[in-house]
Amino acid sequence: MLQSDVLIIGAGVSGLIAGIELAKNGKSVIILEKHSCVGGQCKTEILTKNNDTYRFDYGGHRFITNNEKLLNFIEDILGDDLLIAKRKSVILHKNRVYEYPLNIKNLLKVAPFKLLFASFIDSVKIILNISKQDNTNFETWISSRFGKTLYNNFFAPFSKKLWGIEPKNLSSHWADQRISLLDLKDVMKKLFFKNKKTVRTYASTYRYPKYGFGTLPLKMEKIFKDLGGKIITNEEVNKFTFDNKTIQLVHTNTQTYKAKDIISTMPLNEMSLKLGFNSGLKFRSLRFLCLCLNIEDFSPNTWQYVSDYDLLPTRIQEPKRRSNYMSPKGKSSIMLEIPCNKDDNIWNMKEDKLLEIVKKDLKRLKFDIEDKIIDYFSFSTEHAYTLMDINYSEKREQTINYLNKFDNLIMAGRQGTFRYIFLDTAMETGLMAAQYILNKNITKENIYNHRNEKTVIETKSIV
Ligand SMILES: Cc1cc2nc3c(=O)[nH]c(=O)nc-3n(C[C@H](O)[C@H](O)[C@H](O)COP(=O)(O)OP(=O)(O)OC[C@H]3O[C@@H](n4cnc5c(N)ncnc54)[C@H](O)[C@@H]3O)c2cc1C
Repeated sequence: MLQSDVLIIGAGVSGLIAGIELAKNGKSVIILEKHSCVGGQCKTEILTKNNDTYRFDYGGHRFITNNEKLLNFIEDILGDDLLIAKRKSVILHKNRVYEYPLNIKNLLKVAPFKLLFASFIDSVKIILNISKQDNTNFETWISSRFGKTLYNNFFAPFSKKLWGIEPKNLSSHWADQRISLLDLKDVMKKLFFKNKKTVRTYASTYRYPKYGFGTLPLKMEKIFKDLGGKIITNEEVNKFTFDNKTIQLVHTNTQTYKAKDIISTMPLNEMSLKLGFNSGLKFRSLRFLCLCLNIEDFSPNTWQYVSDYDLLPTRIQEPKRRSNYMSPKGKSSIMLEIPCNKDDNIWNMKEDKLLEIVKKDLKRLKFDIEDKIIDYFSFSTEHAYTLMDINYSEKREQTINYLNKFDNLIMAGRQGTFRYIFLDTAMETGLMAAQYILNKNITKENIYNHRNEKTVIETKSIV
């Protein structure tokens, strides 16, 4: 049996930052990671072909924060490797390309008259308050704020594809937290009054490490080990010995661990199940198809959102648009994000079959790159997005209440707290978990609800 002051489950960025903070403060810490390396969802996969290196993050990452201390921490670790990148995004919809954020010049040029006219009528109803705001579910949230036209054309097909369920079965919380404008009034303000401040801001610049976000956890691993911390990889926690109040022992296939405190960043539903509570919470998975291309540039865009329901990917991204070092000189690459559920058709589909479908989709989107593909591969993540279905909030609360009875357990991180948060917030929750153990001046609720504000989804980065 191995013993330490603190045991951390998961070597993603939140587990690692918790470990660093605790080790710095004299605690003996062991981190257990089920995969062969650290990083979790913040890894960078590498493909080498003909001595050329192509790098792909787990989905397009960008670092934005208004936490100066956290930014300093990242800057110290990554030094000159931390670049400033600019975001440029477009929405691809029915063979048309819309700039994002929307702007009136582009809309008038690109959108069909019928859509513009119907949206205008919707906006009049919304401005005159004929259409009342309805938060019952995602569908009502969107259609009561943006009108039926935009809902049917853009939001419904994209959301159905992303989440794999009808938008009426999705919680309105997702819209609350993730739709960057409040309603059509807000859209109009942004469109017609260039400098008019709206409640939410859109961050167009962000921080990005030269060789992909996976470099961050690798550097954090070194710091943690230099402080005396121990990381054991290929070590999956699969059982606990516990009573009504405390987790006494943590088991893997090969070892038993004992610690005074346990920080867990493993998915909330898996953690609670192992402790005797079936939460009913679910995650949506992603399959990433990566293509190495014999072309200088694929497009000028960081992100291209594919809203058509009958096309597989939800997003296409070109890693080179974040950092030139992500693909070899003179060549580029793209990554397609394809939503799925673990063990469904897409998850299990052979790579060559997936490629054939995606090639057809790309052709429909007017990207003819068939003879430019040098190589390809795919990888997946089971816990990409917390599924915010209509009852998720109650299920999450019940699960948290259940786990709170274990006085030596603190949940942290994106999966651990079941929150759709980015890596800055995930790291903050890890840090808070460490602070909870060190001086208890925060509560577990503070960690679960950290940055839960509904009005701001993107703060302008303090870079
Ligand atoms: C598609 C996508 C795009 C994203 N884009 C951005 C972005 O642009 N900007 C941004 O800031 N953030 C982004 N994020 C979020 C960011 O990657 C995560 O918030 C962050 O990496 C989460 O870190 P974590 O440590 O909380 O969780 P994770 O990285 O999931 O770490 C948890 C770790 O626990 C391990 N684990 C799980 N179960 C066990 C077990 N039983 N035993 C041992 N170990 C276990 C896992 O293997 C994993 O390593 C994105 C995420 C995704 C999926």
